[in-house]
This record gives sequence, C-alpha cells and structure tokens, in this order.
Amino acid sequence: MGNSYQNFKGRLSSINEYTQSKEFTKYSGKILFFHVKAKKINEYVPVFWKLKGFIRISVYEIGEESDPRRSLKKKLSISNTNRIYELLMHMKFASSLSPTTMLNENECSICLERLADTILPCHHSFCHRDIHEWEKRQNTCPICRRPINLNNSFTDLAESFEDIQNEIDNCLSEIISLIN
Ligand SMILES: [Zn+2]
Ligand SMILES: [Zn+2]
Repeated sequence: MGNSYQNFKGRLSSINEYTQSKEFTKYSGKILFFHVKAKKINEYVPVFWKLKGFIRISVYEIGEESDPRRSLKKKLSISNTNRIYELLMHMKFASSLSPTTMLNENECSICLERLADTILPCHHSFCHRDIHEWEKRQNTCPICRRPINLNNSFTDLAESFEDIQNEIDNCLSEIISLIN
C-alpha cells in the first residue's frame, strides 16, 4: 500500500464504495460518504497533502431514500481515515467468510503437514508459521500473487463462526467511535 496522494484517494473511493453498500448498511444502519477537499492550490496537493491544513476530509451521513440529504458528522485526520479504511476492509473480508470456509480443515499447501489456520483476504490459507516466514521475503500470496496483508488476515481460525461476527462488531464499533 503506497503512500501517495493518488493511493490515498484510491483508499477513499474503496471506503465510499463499501460504506454505501447494502452490506455495510445492514451492519451499521448507516450510509456514509467520505469527501476530501483541497484547501490550497491544487497542483501542490500531491506533494504537500500531508501537511496540516492542505486537505480537509469530512464524513457525512446520508439520510434514507425518502430524504437522502447529507449531514456532516465529523472532520477526520489522515491517520484516522487510513484506520477507517483498514477496519472497513477487514470487515468486508470478515463478512465474506462463510461458516463453510471457516470449517474447512485444509492442510497448508506449503508444508503439506500443518493445518492451514491463517486465511488471507484472497481466501487462500496456510499454516501461520509458513505464511509469516513467506511474508518476510514476499508480500504476495504464494498461490494467486495478490498482496498479502497479515494485519488483514485471520490467524488461528476459530472453529466457531461467532468469532467472525465478533470481529465485524469490533471493527464497526471502532469505526463508529472514530466518526462521532
Ligand atoms: Zn505450512
Ligand atoms: Zn491467494
């Protein structure tokens, strides 16, 4: 995950895509809209965007269909916006896991021995020992080459599906505390 202004705006569109989806509304009862605005001369923004006052990030709550007006909830810092992005992507990934995925007791395809107890966002799973070793050298999945982010992976896969639901609830309550 690069740290350019372009990447930041990319994260913002992923945030908006998810916070306006039915899935997010189902969990949170809210529709959110994140907006970034440059306060200074636009051509300098890609260079100086991290300096205080260069950009302003606002989060709005959008009303129901009958009255879809936006109301400003809060102004956000860059680091809180990045944190919200991580939490949302984790939520999205968690909700993509089904009880069947969780209960599949596959063996790790690297060592062919231990239980594949760590599932990556691409849904490939490996034993935690091998994937942590692998990640030190390569940051893409050994099977599909999509980026690995071990912070956004599930380790020690629980047998219970409740853990995934708790994970979603924890993400959501942190997001709610950041935007209120
Ligand atoms: Zn292994
Ligand atoms: Zn993969």
